[in-house]
Amino acid sequence: MIDYPHPITSKLPNVGTTIFTVMSRLAAEHNAINLSQGFPDFDCAPQLRELFCKYINSGYNQYPPMAGVMRLREAIAEKMSSLYGAHYDPEHEVTVTPGATYAIFTAVSAFVNPGDEVILFEPAYDSYAPAVEVNGGKCVYVQLQYPDYGIDWNAVKHAITPKTRMIILNSPNNPTASVMSGEDFRVLASLLRDTDIIIASDEVYEHLVYDGHKHQSVASVPGLAERSIVVNSFGKTYAVTGWKMGYALAPKNLMLEFRKVHQFNAFVCNSPVQYAFADYLKNKDAYLSLSVFYQRKRDFFLEGLKGSRFKPLPSRGTFFQNLAYDAISDELDYDIAIRLTREKGVASIPVSVFYREPPAHRVLRFCFAKSEDTLARGAEILRKL
Ligand code: PMP
Ligand code: GLN
Repeated sequence: MIDYPHPITSKLPNVGTTIFTVMSRLAAEHNAINLSQGFPDFDCAPQLRELFCKYINSGYNQYPPMAGVMRLREAIAEKMSSLYGAHYDPEHEVTVTPGATYAIFTAVSAFVNPGDEVILFEPAYDSYAPAVEVNGGKCVYVQLQYPDYGIDWNAVKHAITPKTRMIILNSPNNPTASVMSGEDFRVLASLLRDTDIIIASDEVYEHLVYDGHKHQSVASVPGLAERSIVVNSFGKTYAVTGWKMGYALAPKNLMLEFRKVHQFNAFVCNSPVQYAFADYLKNKDAYLSLSVFYQRKRDFFLEGLKGSRFKPLPSRGTFFQNLAYDAISDELDYDIAIRLTREKGVASIPVSVFYREPPAHRVLRFCFAKSEDTLARGAEILRKL
């Protein structure tokens, strides 16, 4: 095909291909151990696969309701009530979406007008800024504090202006593996008290918290719940990132606007998957056991790295372990990530890609949602560097 023969004014002039695609492709090309993109290298529960097949084979193959299969919305509402004491009406306040990325994009599209400001924490998961910018919004960044990546609330206070429309939260946080505390939420609630700022809260790692840390949902915080769109994904929780299914929760008047956008974008999402999740959500152990399961993997990976020159940073949640490599090289993190993939056979994510300007500290992110065999082989290579 010949190119379009006119100039194009890009709506996202600074956006290239996401680092996840870049690194996974490079890992495949070089047959490297892929600890870069965040996805499990083991299969999901057999029961979940069977449920999906069951609903395909029994004819649940046409459009479901726009907001999602009611059984699933009820199961999600029930879960929110039992875990966080938060009450969402499945009819008006729960919407099933084709993944969390989509839900965040929809939330931003529904509420951010051209010229509005959106506060992001940097490093920021890579889909947030493009979602804001393509909608004409302006990102205002607050730096997370290396090496714990805590939030400087004074900086947040100064970042808030009359134009601030939204704050995007992500706890447990990708890529920093930090977790917001109860005190963080209390301070945020007091900062927002007299504002009309909306929160989009990306909680996809809600079940992956370690060392006794607890995930707190904005849904459980008075003063925040009523201004929040809570976003989640079944991909992480159930090791089915390729099924692309998630959901959004919000008070009725916010959800009304969210659905206006959703119904003319995806409109609905995969029907048999929704029925499968509706049944599988009843199995509370499947998600309540995840912290122990993944903490073991994190610890196994760290054990394998003992004696290495990498310095592990705190990993309190998510399935990522960040490693500082000051003692190994003074290369930029992007360069070393590429080199280690090509020459040493292990792929990671350079954390600087989640910043506008590379920070002074140099860190690589490794995904430990992998089999012990994969982690052991990856750690052995890293230990020798
Ligand atoms: N938010 C964060 C913080 C993530 O790490 C990811 C990657 N799973 C997503 C959103 C995307 O979730 P989904 O695949 O459901 O779109
Ligand atoms: N969230 C995953 C990660 O951080 C990747 C998802 C994606 O590839 N967009 O690695």
